[in-house]
Amino acid sequence: MDIGFNKPYLTGNENKYITDAVASGKISGNGKYTQLCQDFFEKRYGFRKCLLTTSCTDALEMCAILLNIKDGDEVIIPSYTFVSTANPFLLRGAKIVFADSMDINPNIDAELIEVLITPKTKAIVVVHYAGIACDMDKIMAISKKYNLFVVEDAAQAIDSFYTGMDGVKKPLGSIGHLAAFSFHETKNIISGEGGMLVVNDDRFVARAEIIWEKGTNRSAFWRGEVDKYNWVDIGSSFLPSEIIAAFLWAQLENLDDIQKKRKEIWEQYYSGLLNYRGKSKVKLPVVPGYATNNAHMFYIVFETIENRNLLIKKLKDKQINAVFHYLSLHNSPFFTNLHDGRILEKSDSYSNKLLRLPMFYELTTEKINKIITNTKTF
Ligand SMILES: *Cc1c(COP(=O)(O)O)cnc(C)c1O
Repeated sequence: MDIGFNKPYLTGNENKYITDAVASGKISGNGKYTQLCQDFFEKRYGFRKCLLTTSCTDALEMCAILLNIKDGDEVIIPSYTFVSTANPFLLRGAKIVFADSMDINPNIDAELIEVLITPKTKAIVVVHYAGIACDMDKIMAISKKYNLFVVEDAAQAIDSFYTGMDGVKKPLGSIGHLAAFSFHETKNIISGEGGMLVVNDDRFVARAEIIWEKGTNRSAFWRGEVDKYNWVDIGSSFLPSEIIAAFLWAQLENLDDIQKKRKEIWEQYYSGLLNYRGKSKVKLPVVPGYATNNAHMFYIVFETIENRNLLIKKLKDKQINAVFHYLSLHNSPFFTNLHDGRILEKSDSYSNKLLRLPMFYELTTEKINKIITNTKTF
């Protein structure tokens, strides 16, 4: 019996809400279910303004437009991430300046950001890898000092938190000027494809809605704030249909249950592999004191690429699908000639040595134990 790497979890109400959305006769975007989802996030996490999008990639494209990124602007981004962190800024003409990861986890190393800043730098995009917070106090302090915008790629970071020097526990996605979440089927909360833009800075609220509505002021029109709707800015088709929002609503209603279950699985892995770490020098995930763990992912880091790949093969022989993760973007076939040549050692190291174990709601204790046993005997 195969153990896949991921299995999308259905809460049970997805079809019911989709049927309701279809029956209502309003199946394009920005209807009842879109509103329910957006309100949920705004109330629960205190996000200033939420707009559902068709993907996190789209939400990041909206960020690049909102920040007026143009030819020649520079944007600092970790190299150890998915292409969607970088593409939206490149599409608007930015020069991407890749930064290295930390030693303790794959997040951007805040200590290495300042030397990358030039008069052309416009924004820093951070990624909360595995839902574990970046060192946000340091990053926000740098952004203040140099007057830069901060975008949180919070694709993996739903329901995770950061506690800064002020002692206040803040949800990830609420700290940067803008943030983007993903509801792709590989994330904790899903809608097949799907995402959300979060606007925390008041200056971007009105324009975000316009960009979202293809460059028109249709949202203001529906609210009766203007008497006709017009083309007022650039924009695109970023909002998902009500069918997707209805699916997402069924998931959000079960957020606490999903998170509880995933954290249990994560803890089982962690305690099961603790003594393995001692013997083999394999590293388990590190959650810094300022961060929480939202159990998006369980990864281990090997000492060598050979051992990592060998374990992938060994587990495969036992029908267990463990997978590696990102290949450094600065070395990618697309970007390598655009990169300035700096060696990003930590990012490359995670590309070579990090392994992700199966992680999904319906993973049983029996299967987790099988994975742990096979990993330990290796
Ligand atoms: C999944 C992911 C994305 C892309 O999300 P989509 O919703 O598929 O566009 C972007 N960044 C990170 C870090 C991700 O994990």
